[in-house]
Amino acid sequence: MEVEGVAGGRKNTGTPKAIINSKFGSNASYVVEEVVEHVQDVCTEVSVPGLSVPGLSIPKKVHIMYRCRLELPEFSVVSGTFRKKKDAEQDAAQQAVDKLGIHPSIGKPTWEESLEELVSRISYLFSDKFLGTRHPMTGHLRATLRREGNHCGSFPISVITACDVKVNSLCKKIDPKVESNPSLALSFIKVAASKLSGSLSSPDEKLWIKRLNPYPHDIIESPIDQESCPPEVATVHALYIPSVMEEPVEPISFDVLPSVYYMDIIAQKLRMASASELLISRPTGKVSSETKLYYAAPEMYWSEASSSLQLAESCKDSLNVRASYLCDQDIYGNAILAAVDYTWKSKELSVEDISMQSYYRMLINKTPAGAYKLSRGAVITAALPSVFTTKTNWRGLLPRDILSTFCRQHGLAEPSFSTSLVLLKPSSELSGSPKEMGTMNPLNETEQADAGFLTSTIEESTESGSTCQCEVKVSCELAGPSKKLKTMISENATGQASAGFSTSIIKESVESESTYQCEVKILSKTQEVILVCSPKESFKRQNDCIQTVALRVLSWLNMYFLGIEPEKLNTSAEALDITFNPERFHEEFKFGPSIHGYQQRDIQEVINKKSQVDIEGQGSGISPTSGSLARITYSVSLVPADGHTKELLESADEFEFEMGTGAVISHLEVAIAQMSVGQSACFSIDIPDQEQILAASDDFTRINSLLNSYHCRLEYSVKLLHITELLEDKMEQAFFSPTLSKQRVEFAVDRIRQSDATSLIDFGCGSGSLLDSLLDYATGLEKIVGVDISVKSLIHAAKVLHSKLSKDSGTIKSAVLYDGSITVLDSRLCGFDMGTCLEVIEHMEEEQAHMFGDIVLGSFRPKTMIISTPNYEYNVILQGSSAGNQEENVHEKSQAGEHPFKFRNHDHKFEWTRQQFESWATKIATKHHYWVQFSGVGGSGDVEPGFASQIAVFTMEPPSPSTPSRTGDSPVSSTEEVTDSCKVVWEWNSSN
Ligand code: SAH
Ligand code: MG
Repeated sequence: MEVEGVAGGRKNTGTPKAIINSKFGSNASYVVEEVVEHVQDVCTEVSVPGLSVPGLSIPKKVHIMYRCRLELPEFSVVSGTFRKKKDAEQDAAQQAVDKLGIHPSIGKPTWEESLEELVSRISYLFSDKFLGTRHPMTGHLRATLRREGNHCGSFPISVITACDVKVNSLCKKIDPKVESNPSLALSFIKVAASKLSGSLSSPDEKLWIKRLNPYPHDIIESPIDQESCPPEVATVHALYIPSVMEEPVEPISFDVLPSVYYMDIIAQKLRMASASELLISRPTGKVSSETKLYYAAPEMYWSEASSSLQLAESCKDSLNVRASYLCDQDIYGNAILAAVDYTWKSKELSVEDISMQSYYRMLINKTPAGAYKLSRGAVITAALPSVFTTKTNWRGLLPRDILSTFCRQHGLAEPSFSTSLVLLKPSSELSGSPKEMGTMNPLNETEQADAGFLTSTIEESTESGSTCQCEVKVSCELAGPSKKLKTMISENATGQASAGFSTSIIKESVESESTYQCEVKILSKTQEVILVCSPKESFKRQNDCIQTVALRVLSWLNMYFLGIEPEKLNTSAEALDITFNPERFHEEFKFGPSIHGYQQRDIQEVINKKSQVDIEGQGSGISPTSGSLARITYSVSLVPADGHTKELLESADEFEFEMGTGAVISHLEVAIAQMSVGQSACFSIDIPDQEQILAASDDFTRINSLLNSYHCRLEYSVKLLHITELLEDKMEQAFFSPTLSKQRVEFAVDRIRQSDATSLIDFGCGSGSLLDSLLDYATGLEKIVGVDISVKSLIHAAKVLHSKLSKDSGTIKSAVLYDGSITVLDSRLCGFDMGTCLEVIEHMEEEQAHMFGDIVLGSFRPKTMIISTPNYEYNVILQGSSAGNQEENVHEKSQAGEHPFKFRNHDHKFEWTRQQFESWATKIATKHHYWVQFSGVGGSGDVEPGFASQIAVFTMEPPSPSTPSRTGDSPVSSTEEVTDSCKVVWEWNSSN
């Protein structure tokens, strides 16, 4: 039989998705999310450092990857990241299959069946029909057919495994060991070819296959060939990697004529007669690259191929450590690293140059710190931070993503994160006795079924002292379980009377005191556990927790790659709550330290040595403190000792990093801490490590000869451009959980739900955070309106609202966004049931805020109006807890001026104390006949210094005979004409 797509006939059987589908049907839901991955273009020649991309001196590539969450009735799983959506889905399904303990023997082809399929696939690959198709392998086929002499038409078997995905996956089905020992695949193909001895020949001792009957002439000269443009010579820049470590890696180049098979030229460079016995590694370097290692099949290889142990033994001496390290596969003898191949895209040979710089980048990209540095485009300036504070302040690839990249680079499975939610609550606030707490279990089984993502809910409910601790394990990973959990809980709270007592405990706890713990496992391709990091610390935010754990593992791995002594490694593992399987670990990473760590002692010396910093220029007096973002411009040059000219290595016009986290080399951070905005500094340090210098430089020959001939130093020249104190963000994100802005939104949503409002207007709606969140809840609202002066924010709001409303509009019949100032009259803003104005007034001059107060209560007159603004007095908590030297700073200022503390945001024109806010609110309320109540979110109203965000809720007084007519104070009387000042930027109606 001739099978074109082996998988074709049995397309959907046996795949993890098919298994899940047969078991769960439509109860399985796949949610795919995009993950942006910044990957250095490690294999491309890059332009001169110092080009004008802000913050970058090296071009950066962004890959869109996909991650899939599979939700099943009982639990959910999250896949690793993949280039293709379907791979992410299959991976998620596979995880679910593993979790369910299904052994997919049913539906999985047996060994014999797979071999049979392999035979038919090989038969197809050598058929007339196949040569007429477009497939990377057809390029190779044609090239072998163009050869002269004996080798004409003999096809290297390793090319089949390198080009054909189906062959590869069939070989893996025959024996999963193929993953770690690709030579096994070659032997399976040989076996398959021997079953086709009627049409194919493959002598026992040879690694090639040849078709017995020549191809018909018209197929060889097929249209594909004829449409080809005039033949061109391709020059390939590649690298020669000797297996003897003492011999240097060297650039080589060769020309490929259209009439010659490129593999034969590579073979020649490796002193082989032809490509027939040439082996190809799996691709290395960046995702989807054609960068592969080429090497001669070792002698003995063939006869011993079925026993990898014997092979390893017999070839041990010729193991090419550098090459093996690059592609995570054992490579023997001298090798050539080249990016040249036939691809799906074009029938022409695709060629990419590989420079020494690309080589060094590929190398450092295999270490956690290196991958981070590359993601920042600052190889000799950036450093892997030692702490993760907030996502807002993090620059470059996130720890979790670096860890994924790292594992992929080292041929490991996707790291597996599991987070659990820890609930803590003083027992005085629990409404039940410890005994009654036991009743939570049955209840939570119902919840479990409803929610569809809790693996096991309340596992433990013990009382220890005055604190009751419950643990809820949530299997959901990055999918934001807190939100889901809360949704589920609020449903329960309203829907199930019997659930009242225990759910209220959970609800309280989740919102105020719950924290997350996270554990990460590093697994081999065969799912063996290599390393586990399981810190006891818990975090308010799930993402912080995940990123912190990932960063710990990265920091520790990095020490290993630097060649730190085993003893120290063990102690730091303990300190970081890391346990590892030493045998498996060393097996997976055996080459790492020998390749990266050769200059370890030098690094220590450099770190310990202090360097002289010269600071110049008139400073602004504003110095960066821990936690602030420093923006600098910098350049680094290599300075040879004997007065040779400097060589520029790396520079950036704008480079931003968080102070106090070790995000740049320590010398630089120390220097910046002494500077103030506007000042420049210059200092020099000893060479940290050659690998980095060579990865930064595009002129290998020159830099390498300087490094080898002279004592060189690195000279940094830097200017501090700007400091951002992200006080508000910090306040929002680090101090409160849920974030302060979320709490504000929830405060408003609660009020709306308690009211019978059918219309809502959000004054200063910004990007629509309130309107957007509102749509997640059932309210009685039919009309929602937002007003803002920032068109950019409004456009964002419109996009979000539009997509949400078109999916499910609930009770909403109309929605409008206006561009306009809320201090100007417009009749369309009048007469709503509910008005909100969250964190807006402080963005206006105080005068304007007074004007807004009058207009909103006097003219727009919503029945209920909610206004929030920061509580200035609360800033002491935030600023007191940041860096030590800032306290001094604050103290000085408090003696000097009226604002001892900074405002939370640069755009704030004022921030009021409780007294200032209450006086403003009371005045306008009295004037316009509203009642006012004060409240807030973040912190507590009863404890000094009050809530973090203060809120006034105004309620229109009911008309009564004793109150004088209100029309008098209103600037807008019903008869007066008002010119409408707002512009509609977006409008939506349910009938659309
Ligand atoms: N309410 C939103 C946005 C707060 S940020 C939230 O809670 O997320 C403050 C917003 O007020 C900004 O979007 C700004 O454009 C808007 N703003 C400031 N002065 C305004 C004015 N005079 N009229 C309308 N909007 C204003
Ligand atoms: Mg604000």
